[in-house]
This record gives sequence, structure tokens and C-alpha cells, in this order.
Amino acid sequence: MHQKIIRKLDTSKGGERLNRAPDFPARGFLVCGDCGGLMTAGWSKGKKQRYPYYSCKNQGCFSKRKSVPRQTIHDGIEHMLEELVPSSEALAVFEAFVSAAIHRVSANAVQDRDDLKLQISALSDQHRRLLDRIVEEDDAEVSVALKLRLKELQLDLKVKQAQHAKLSSATQVTPEIFEHSKALLANPSNLWKNGSLATKKTVLRACFATPPGYTRTRGFRTPKTTPIFNALDAASEGEINLVEPRTTIPHSGIFRPVPRNL
Ligand SMILES: [Zn+2]
Repeated sequence: MHQKIIRKLDTSKGGERLNRAPDFPARGFLVCGDCGGLMTAGWSKGKKQRYPYYSCKNQGCFSKRKSVPRQTIHDGIEHMLEELVPSSEALAVFEAFVSAAIHRVSANAVQDRDDLKLQISALSDQHRRLLDRIVEEDDAEVSVALKLRLKELQLDLKVKQAQHAKLSSATQVTPEIFEHSKALLANPSNLWKNGSLATKKTVLRACFATPPGYTRTRGFRTPKTTPIFNALDAASEGEINLVEPRTTIPHSGIFRPVPRNL
């Protein structure tokens, strides 16, 4: 009985929608070039099979419910991402720059942590000595003053320990994170083609500062790229005279998807 219910849920409309969600990585980011609203996606029913598509469902838009094949959208995005691939020289400069920055930040963090450890150790010693003095002190007034000092010390110690714990648990840029970032910057279209749904979504947001807008008549309006790709693009362009000409993606204007075999 239980299995039957599960099977029913799996094949119900809701279950289908859930299962097919990974098929549309641009949903929630891609916008309609006619009205500026987010495009949605789904499967249309053909005679023999179902076809994946993106479409605008915004009220008042003349492109409402006019579907665009998923392949057209995905190929267009792939082509725009291919244009973002930086020159190997620009990437090498970036890599050296980031490596140096990571090294500097890590070295500073280690130094700060070591300094705090020394301070905590000194405060703990003071705390121990003060406790001994309080136990041995006969004069009531001096004893009160010492206890006040003890409270101050304890507070100071707590603050330093909390700072130390925070520094120790801070997220460090690991070699893995660095490698993933490098892979994205070196070839975003490769991750778009071969990555998981989450990776594809990340690629779109990491590359485009504004969502790509698509119209059925004019194709893609090229989105603005994010600062990191702007910087890599500028670095790559700077080498045109030194190395070789390079086609760069324009920051505005109409961009048509080009079939891969041309
Ligand atoms: Zn629209």
C-alpha cells in the first residue's frame, strides 16, 4: 500500500515537475527580452514525445506562451560563455595575483592567531597568580580590589578566547576552492556543458552580472559580465598588440546564437 502511494506520487504532475527541474538550469535567471520578466520552462506534449522549452508567461507580453526550444537557449548561452574564455596570459597573471593574495591573507591569519594564543597564555598565568593572592590575602579591602581585578581579567580572557576560536574556524581558501575558481574562470562554457545543475546555475551567476535576455526575433541580448570577467577581458585585450588579436564579447548589443558547426 505504502509503495503504491509512493509510485502514485512519483508519476503525479507534481512528481514529474520535480523530476524534470534539473533539465532547465537557466530557469530563474534567463529573462524575456521583450518584457524583461523571468522566463519559465517546461515540457510540451508532441504526438510521439515531449519537447523541452523555455517561454515567457508574463501577462501583457506579446511573446507570452511562445516557446523557444531548450537547445536554442542552451546553445546560445554556451556560445556567450565561450566568448568569455580569457587569454592564457591573462589567466596566468590572475592566478599569480590570487595565489599571492591567498598566501598573504593566510600568513596574516596565522600570525594573528599565534599572537592571540600568546596573549591568552599570559592572561591565564595572571589569572592563576591573582587567585593565589586572593586566597592568601587577609586585608578585606585589598581582597575586594583583587576580586574586581579578577573579574576584569576573566572578561578579557573570554574576549580573547572568542576571537581565537573565530579565527581558528574561519573559512580558509583551500587549494580545492582555488582550483574550482580557476576552472570556472579558465573555461566557463566547459562547466556549463558538463557540470551538475548547481554548477550550471553557479556558472550563470558567476559570469553574468545581468541575466541574459532572449527574444525570438533577435536572439540574445548580451548580458553584462561580472567584474572578474571584465578584469580578465581587459587584461586579455591589453595583450592584443603583444600577442594576437582576440575577439571579445561586447557589453551590450544584440548577440545571435551561432550554430556550433559554422
Ligand atoms: Zn515576455
